[in-house]
Amino acid sequence: MADQRDELRVAVIGAGPAGLYAADALLGMEDRQEISVDVVDRLPTPFGLVRYGVAPDHVSIRSVRDTLDRILDHPRIRFFGGVHVDDGTQGVSLDEFRNAYDAVFLTYGASADRPLSIPGEELPGSISATEFVRWYTGHPDSPPEEFTDVLERTRSVAVIGVGNVAVDVARILAKNHAELQHTDMPDHVLAALVGSSVEMIHLIGRRGPAEAAWTTKELRELAELADASVRVDPVDVQHGPSSQAVISSNKVAARNTAVIEDWAHQEERDSARIIRLRFFSRPVRIEGDDTGVRALVVERTALTESGGVEGTGQFVTIPVDLVIRSVGYRGLELPGVPFDAARAVIPNDAGRVLGPHGPIPGLYTAGWIKRGPSGIIGTNKKDAVETVKAFLDDLDHGRVPGRRDDEDLFARLPDPVVDTQGWRRIDSAERRLGALADKDRTTIHDWDTAMELGARSG
Ligand SMILES: Cc1cc2nc3c(=O)[nH]c(=O)nc-3n(C[C@H](O)[C@H](O)[C@H](O)COP(=O)(O)OP(=O)(O)OC[C@H]3O[C@@H](n4cnc5c(N)ncnc54)[C@H](O)[C@@H]3O)c2cc1C
Repeated sequence: MADQRDELRVAVIGAGPAGLYAADALLGMEDRQEISVDVVDRLPTPFGLVRYGVAPDHVSIRSVRDTLDRILDHPRIRFFGGVHVDDGTQGVSLDEFRNAYDAVFLTYGASADRPLSIPGEELPGSISATEFVRWYTGHPDSPPEEFTDVLERTRSVAVIGVGNVAVDVARILAKNHAELQHTDMPDHVLAALVGSSVEMIHLIGRRGPAEAAWTTKELRELAELADASVRVDPVDVQHGPSSQAVISSNKVAARNTAVIEDWAHQEERDSARIIRLRFFSRPVRIEGDDTGVRALVVERTALTESGGVEGTGQFVTIPVDLVIRSVGYRGLELPGVPFDAARAVIPNDAGRVLGPHGPIPGLYTAGWIKRGPSGIIGTNKKDAVETVKAFLDDLDHGRVPGRRDDEDLFARLPDPVVDTQGWRRIDSAERRLGALADKDRTTIHDWDTAMELGARSG
């Protein structure tokens, strides 16, 4: 059992909001016991999707990074970037962490995308929002030129999905240079977006305006763009009984519907780019060949009385050169850790990882990999606190087994890793790069450059 007089050592795998909020809550227990927390990430930089998901033009939301960064100032926390945790074949095995720490928190997020499962999904020019978001936020896994040519020749795009990520993607595609130049996007991304030939952006939803998952604030932004206007077909805002029921019982749905009804009845204005909201449209196939996408075929749908969706047998072919599928994120299995494949999460009880015989001592989880990809950034704080409470309860009841090995894992890791000071060097370099373009920062997208700036020798 972990000795209450000893310093407790906890490893947190994944330096996104869930990992850092968990670390913060753990450090908050210092008054009852000495504790040190090591937070590791496979990327050279911390903050997970706050850095590589939240849209670069949402400056105030992205500033959550500053709050998360202050957690790293605590003297009892260490950050190690460039550390991939796996079964030990390419990175460091989870077993090594479990040996060297009293408890391990798995907070590695949900980084894969959900498939749409329609013919043509694999054609070149059919991409996931995950890939596109990674590219425009400067994720080091994303090649800089990945979408430059595609955007240059794309006039019409279908963004499939009616959640906030789909709205982010549509808005980023529709903004002009003045609207994007002060973001932290890497220069190659800004150049490709500004130089794109995109004129028409179709936002495609299977159900109606009342059933869409976006928030009203995000939705309204679409009508505030300098060079783009929104169009909605009035036929899409004729609500059936099940939608009426949603509108009466759900304030967000009521607000969203009111905004969309306004758009459907407003006079069309000329603009360089048009965002066309298409509801009751179920994608059935993507047409094209090995040179690219030509069209998206959708079937018009109708809502059943219970709110389900049924096809009407009426098909519409929408000419497009690019399809961006934004139908959700999905967690991945970590070798050696129980996984609920149906829900794509780690099975858990209030954050205690559940094996076949109950909680696995010393193993915890928080964030998207614990509960699935839902909620806002702040949801991960509450979620992480719940897990830390479960850990404290286990500690109080002697259910934390204690580390087997007292050696500092990071004193002997052979590969270069980025520690907190290294991250600060990357951070300063990004701010200097940004200052050259009169902005707060420019994201360093290149993996090798980040590692060179940040890595200490192993
Ligand atoms: C496109 C997009 C836009 C969003 N916009 C908003 C928004 O505007 N407002 C809002 O409130 N929320 C937004 N969210 C949601 C928010 O980003 C998430 O709630 C939050 O990031 C989830 O936190 P997490 O720590 O669970 O996962 P993540 O943020 O994904 O962090 C997980 C970390 O684990 C690391 N990792 C993964 N695998 C390994 C491994 N094997 N070894 C080591 N490290 C690993 C990853 O590199 C990553 O840094 C957005 C999400 C997306 C996808």
